[in-house]
Amino acid sequence: MADDLYDVTIVGGGPVGLFTAFYSGMRNLKTKLLESSGELGGKITQFYPEKTIRDIGGIQAVTGAGLVRALIGQAKTFAPAILCNRHVSGLERMPDGSFLLKTDNGEPHHTKTIILTAGAGIFKPVKLDVKGAERFESGNLYYTIEQLEVFRNKRVVISGGGNAAVDWANELAPVAERVSVIHRRDLFGGFERQVCEMKKLAEVFTPYKIKSLYGEGESIRRVEIEHADTGEMHWLEADAVIVNHGIYGDYGGILNWGLAMQEGRFVVNGAMETNIAGIFAAGDAVTYPHKLKLIAGGFAEGPVAVNSAAKYISPDAELMAMYSTHHERFTK
Ligand SMILES: Cc1cc2nc3c(=O)[nH]c(=O)nc-3n(C[C@H](O)[C@H](O)[C@H](O)COP(=O)(O)OP(=O)(O)OC[C@H]3O[C@@H](n4cnc5c(N)ncnc54)[C@H](O)[C@@H]3O)c2cc1C
Repeated sequence: MADDLYDVTIVGGGPVGLFTAFYSGMRNLKTKLLESSGELGGKITQFYPEKTIRDIGGIQAVTGAGLVRALIGQAKTFAPAILCNRHVSGLERMPDGSFLLKTDNGEPHHTKTIILTAGAGIFKPVKLDVKGAERFESGNLYYTIEQLEVFRNKRVVISGGGNAAVDWANELAPVAERVSVIHRRDLFGGFERQVCEMKKLAEVFTPYKIKSLYGEGESIRRVEIEHADTGEMHWLEADAVIVNHGIYGDYGGILNWGLAMQEGRFVVNGAMETNIAGIFAAGDAVTYPHKLKLIAGGFAEGPVAVNSAAKYISPDAELMAMYSTHHERFTK
């Protein structure tokens, strides 16, 4: 399957990539979708699967997970190849004008056109800005919590003041021996009730930041914290350090493709064409005047990109698919 030549390869399996895969099938194009993570649904799956979405036309209310389920079902209508755990990074133009896309593990994917629906790229945690911190990453320095049990009866230091840091402190307090929260400002994010709860359950140091980490091998044993204004130092014994300093989107190798960018997004025109012939883009990944930064906006851009791809492949192709109400797949 990796070696077959596809008409359209969609990079990113968020809501826009999924709907684009459906529409590409409506146009009878041989379609593949590559998603970097293990799950489809993009930001919805990652950040708000349980929240209710109310601004999709015709759907009064749907949970994030419900919308993703429906989008996956719809995307599969025309049986595209949908592959997860494929992080696209490399690009080569072949002598016949087609593209060779490469995933991080070197897997080749041949395609006539590409539609980038990569959102803001892959989300990565902002790392702790302390010299030598990376050596503890394979030990007891964490950027996310997968299992609370890992911290049972441990002295845990949390660095950060966003709502995730507050939630983690409250969830860990009944499990850990001690939770200390270090934040460089006095104000915390999140609901007031949860911040009050945290101040009861954890020892809170503000405005402080982590200055140094000391330990043996890959294990932190002590954390040195510094007062942001006075420079006063404290020591904390620690069995685990958890950092929540935010996340950032990373396009990785795609940044080397030569695509024009503006304010961190790929520039497209009204046909969703990028500056490279044969590469189109849609959804959160793109910028153009009056861009609508909503799922609904991406649901229009994906089909425009597909139609442009169809014209690129066959200049005589119709500019639009047949209405779904009249499409042979649904009328038979
Ligand atoms: C908390 C929150 C609430 C929101 N609520 C709403 C709302 O109520 N209504 C609304 O309309 N919008 C809402 N949004 C915005 C909405 O989620 C986005 O507009 C939408 O997810 C964009 O879809 P997308 O498919 O373009 O990108 P994304 O959802 O970001 O999906 C991009 C996908 O591409 C993948 N990817 C990235 N790089 C690569 C690569 N190199 N190779 C392979 N795959 C890659 C990513 O893993 C991801 O799965 C909300 C956003 C947030 C954060």
